[in-house]
This record gives sequence, C-alpha cells and structure tokens, in this order.
Amino acid sequence: MNNYINSTITANNSSIDFEFDKQHIWHPYTSMSHALPAFGVISAKECELTLDDGRQLVDGTSSWWACVHGYSHPTIVNAMQEQLHKLSHVMFGGITHQPAIELSKKLVNMTSDNLTKVFLADSGSIAVEVALKMSLQYWQGRNQPQKQRILTVKCGYHGDTFAAMSVCDPEGGMHTMFGDSVTQHEFVSAPQTQFGQPFDNSELDEMRAKLSSQGNEIAAVILEPVLQGAGGMRFYHPQYLVGLRQLCDEFNVLLILDEIATGFGRTGKLFAYEHATHDGKAVEADILCLGKALTGGYISLAATICSDEVAQGISDSPAGVFMHGPTFMGNPLACSAACASLDLLSRNEWQAQVSNIERQLQSELAEAIEYPQVKDVRVLGAIGVIEMNSSVNTAELQQQFVDLGVWIRPFSNLIYIMPPYVISAEQLTKLTSAMKIVAKSILTCGDQAEFISHG
Ligand SMILES: *Cc1c(COP(=O)(O)O)cnc(C)c1O
Repeated sequence: MNNYINSTITANNSSIDFEFDKQHIWHPYTSMSHALPAFGVISAKECELTLDDGRQLVDGTSSWWACVHGYSHPTIVNAMQEQLHKLSHVMFGGITHQPAIELSKKLVNMTSDNLTKVFLADSGSIAVEVALKMSLQYWQGRNQPQKQRILTVKCGYHGDTFAAMSVCDPEGGMHTMFGDSVTQHEFVSAPQTQFGQPFDNSELDEMRAKLSSQGNEIAAVILEPVLQGAGGMRFYHPQYLVGLRQLCDEFNVLLILDEIATGFGRTGKLFAYEHATHDGKAVEADILCLGKALTGGYISLAATICSDEVAQGISDSPAGVFMHGPTFMGNPLACSAACASLDLLSRNEWQAQVSNIERQLQSELAEAIEYPQVKDVRVLGAIGVIEMNSSVNTAELQQQFVDLGVWIRPFSNLIYIMPPYVISAEQLTKLTSAMKIVAKSILTCGDQAEFISHG
C-alpha cells in the first residue's frame, strides 16, 4: 500500500511511473516476476511515437495492424470528439443510434454482396467467438445440430479467448497449456504454396479428405485469407481459398474468413479475399470477421458480418435469437471512429500508398536474403518480413530498434513491419535500414545463444 501511495505522489503528468507499471500492470504475454522493460510513450502523431524522454520513433507496427492512417489524424480525432459530446455510450439492447447504422451501412456496402447482417463486438477475439457461435446456431436452425466441430488450418491465429484459442495453431498456440479446457477441433496442414508461386490443386486434397469423412459433424471452416499473421506471417496462394470455397459448398460447411489483421487495404486489396477470384468474382465468406484497423486503430471495435442465409438459419434455431450481446455492443464512440476511418479509406489514397510501400519494401529488404542468418524475405502489400533461421530475443532487439529510432517488435524468428499507410519514403527507409542492421547484428554477434528467446 505504502508503495502505491508513494508512487501516486511522485507520479505526475510528464513522468511515467515505470516502477508501478512493473509491479502492478500486466502487459501482453509478459511475466510479473521477470517483467521485460516497457517504453513510456506520451504522445503520437502521424507515424511517430514520442517517448517520455523526448525521443521520437518511427512506427513500424501500426500498433499491431490497426493504426493505418497514422496517429492523431484530425479527421478521426474530430469525429470522436464530436461524438463524445453527444453520446459516448448507450446500451444497444432495445436502443439504436446513427453511428452504428452509418457504420453498418458502410460495412455492408464495402464487403461482398452476400454479407448483409452486422454484429458489432468489442474486440477481434470476440468477433471470432461470435462467428463460431453463429455457425453452430445456424446448423441448429437447419436441423443439423450434430454439426458442432470447427475445421481450420495449422499456423492460424484467431485470438486469445477460449474458442478463439481452440482454432489457433495447435503447436504455436496455447492448446497444450490449457489442456482439456480448450475444445479439440479439427486441423489440416497449413496452405503450402506461397503467394506468387504456381498453385497445385492437390494441396487441397487433405482438406477434401477431411470434409468428405467428417463434413457431417463440421459446422464451419475458419481461416485467415491469404496472410496467416501471428501464426508465422505466412503469405499463401489465394487459389487455395477458391478451392476451399468450392469444397465448403460441396460438403455443406460454412466458410468463416478472419480478416481482422488483413482487412482495410493492408495486403494491397481492400480485403485479402479479393485476391482470390474465380470467373472474375472474389470468393465470398458466409461469415466475415473484422477488427484491428476498423477504427483506424483509435479505439477497440470489431464486426462479424454474415449472410442472409446464416442469419435466417440462426433465427430459425430453437433459441430463435442469436445468443450474444456484450455490454459495450455497438459503442457509438467507437463507431464514430470507424466511420471516420472508413471515410478516409474511401478517398482511395491507400491504394497508391500501399503499392508504393510494397515496391519500396521489395527493393530495400531484398538484400537481406544474402545474410546467412536469414531464412526468407517476403513482402505483400504494406507488410515486410525478414524471417530469421532461429528465434530472436524480443527484448534485446526491441532495445536495438529504439536506439535506432524506430518501433519494431519482432516475435519468434520474425522481424517484420506493417507501417501506417501514410508513412513517408524517408521514414520507411529508416525502418528497413534498422531491420537490416538488426538482422545483420544477430549474425555478426557470434554468440547466437544470447539472442535466442529466454521464453
Ligand atoms: C489480432 C487478431 C485477432 C484477435 O483480435 P483482438 O482484438 O486482439 O482480440 C483475431 N484474428 C486475427 C487474424 C488477428 O490478427
């Protein structure tokens, strides 16, 4: 207690109480007994974060895929301020409001034609929970209640809540850690052909075999279209999705696409599923999950959008209603941020921005493939990845990056960036130079063990 009182007295607006943070606040995936250092950020503008000591860092993360227009964008800030004065939050049960209506109109218009019914949730993981529940309730409404299993591919990532965890990669995810508390679902190999390589349809054989033997129990297939993010930053061939859609139709299984990381332009298309076309038409999900960049990264919000058919099935189910309704559902403040962010996207500047970033990443990262310690270098849209041969020490590299004036957060054996679309060429060069310097330093250090994650 005494500690707490002392720290509140000593803390003021300009200094960050790191000691309190270390003692009392969880950060993502960290230990409370061996807390890794956290950097204090006091403000952020456009593509730069300002640290408490005044240093400015070029942001290579978009705060985990979210902040696509940069920080403190006046359009989003003004929209939120206006909304804040009118209505920050009101319950969504029995009540509706224009920010939710306006946002849902935009989402229905910009996603595939068959996606018409919008569920506004609080975070990506919840959007995935909602999608999975929708798929189960749908089959209840279609008199096939035995369809309760979910099928997915390895190397996926769908969030940290229990149902979301259950469809994450069974090895890289948290299955073994939580044992029987995590529902055992069905897995097939991850898509193998890389984006841009010639596709071989036999890659779908395992999926076909699984669906033909167990399709009767399977409610839905869930996967991330084209880019598997936190499961390894793998870019796979879009034709896989075309084949998968056909298999889902053939075996009466719903297709859930998780665009939480890839949505809103990141891969060079507005949605990653648009890379996957058949007879000129993009693959259509039955249920689509959106999040992360939905609000431009300003506040948490996610959406699960389903087809008329799915919505009808749910409504025909014994429950008669969809059984989900979070307290902060449809939060007006978050909806106003999302509307402003989508307005910015609708100016279509993102297309040129993302393709310029893609070109620059390709030319500036290419040489890294020559470093013996590097396994692969790949670029898709505004995403650049240097895959190392072995795992890196995140804390160590994080410090190196900060010393180089950039914010990049590697994980596993991946040094990667997905900067805000508004980044300048000079700022992007600063990021790619830092990636190369750091990747090389792992090599030249000679003591590789030092860099292997302690985790
Ligand atoms: C981040 C992410 C999620 C989870 O979103 P949260 O907002 O962190 O709960 C789900 N799916 C994918 C593909 C993601 O990248």
